[in-house]
Amino acid sequence: MFPPNLVEACFKQYKTNYGTRKILRPTLSSINFTTTTEPPMIENITAAFKNLQELMFVEEVIPVAGSSNAVNALGLVVFSIAFGLVIGNMKQQGQALKEFFDCLNEAIMRLVAIIIWYAPIGILFLIAGKIMEMKDLTVMGGQLGMYTVTVIIGLLIHALVVLPLLYFIVTHKNPWVFIGGLLQALITALGTSSSSATLPITFKCLEENNGVDKHVTRFVLPVGATINMDGTALYEALAAIFIAQVNNYDLNFGQIITISITATAASIGAAGIPQAGLVTMVIVLTSVGLPTEDITLIIAVDWFLDRLRTTTNVLGDSLGAGIVEHLSRHELHTPDAEVGNSVIEENEKPYQLICQEHENQKHLDSETMM
Ligand code: ASP
Repeated sequence: MFPPNLVEACFKQYKTNYGTRKILRPTLSSINFTTTTEPPMIENITAAFKNLQELMFVEEVIPVAGSSNAVNALGLVVFSIAFGLVIGNMKQQGQALKEFFDCLNEAIMRLVAIIIWYAPIGILFLIAGKIMEMKDLTVMGGQLGMYTVTVIIGLLIHALVVLPLLYFIVTHKNPWVFIGGLLQALITALGTSSSSATLPITFKCLEENNGVDKHVTRFVLPVGATINMDGTALYEALAAIFIAQVNNYDLNFGQIITISITATAASIGAAGIPQAGLVTMVIVLTSVGLPTEDITLIIAVDWFLDRLRTTTNVLGDSLGAGIVEHLSRHELHTPDAEVGNSVIEENEKPYQLICQEHENQKHLDSETMM
């Protein structure tokens, strides 16, 4: 997570290798010393020493720091987050750097826009190549089916158990009544595969059906549609594990944790548009050294899974808004001092009232001066 060298992090990843070292045998009594009657020749002595060394020392497996040729995505993501926060805090001083990165991003986007025209041909040959590599298409079909079922079960557990439970624990209200008011938004998410396109309906459902305060929805929903994607995070982690299993690649505990962290970061980076999660999957795969071209394996079922994860994303945002409203209910009921003092409010007052207030103020001023 903390790369010592940023340039190196772009092409090298930290990796734990396992080496051996010799240590003294813990119980020397287990050594069976045998006496020999052979004359003490130099070869015999050397052999005896070698024997003794083998008997006295044992090999122990130890972890050694190493590296592999892959992008250290986790290190780069952590650095970028920290760097972005610092630039943001620098305000005016950091403006030049911010503009530089904006400009760099724009230039790369233009380059991508040119390359994207070749995407259909590229994807066609990528998929064709993958199909040719498969020994048995039916086996792959079965694996893909199991992967789809796993993603669906995961999303169902999250949407029907975890999220409603969270809502209930915080608000002590019935989550199903709340979810009932969201049906139109959920169906729109299922149909459009886009949290951003569903946003207007989500606003409507929350404000009109569930009576959530506008102060909350106007803040929570746009932020949620951009960065809060529980369904996408869950799907990306599962997809990475599936790709590892297809390649007979054993993931250790540390790699599973790395996948969880990078999948969360990648879901934050994904836009609220159809199949955006598939693009940010690259970050997750490179973080554990999996082949990125294997994304083509899951393209076939992604159009369907995208609909389900988008629905989960919208549900997560909406229940989040419900929870935020409950937690800020006291602030919401006190009159908004800022709005009360605002210019808009002043302009909306009848003209005579404003004049009267000015007169009163003048009167007060003259009295205090006297
Ligand atoms: N389509 C998803 C959304 O809009 C993003 C993704 O996972 O592809 O929320």
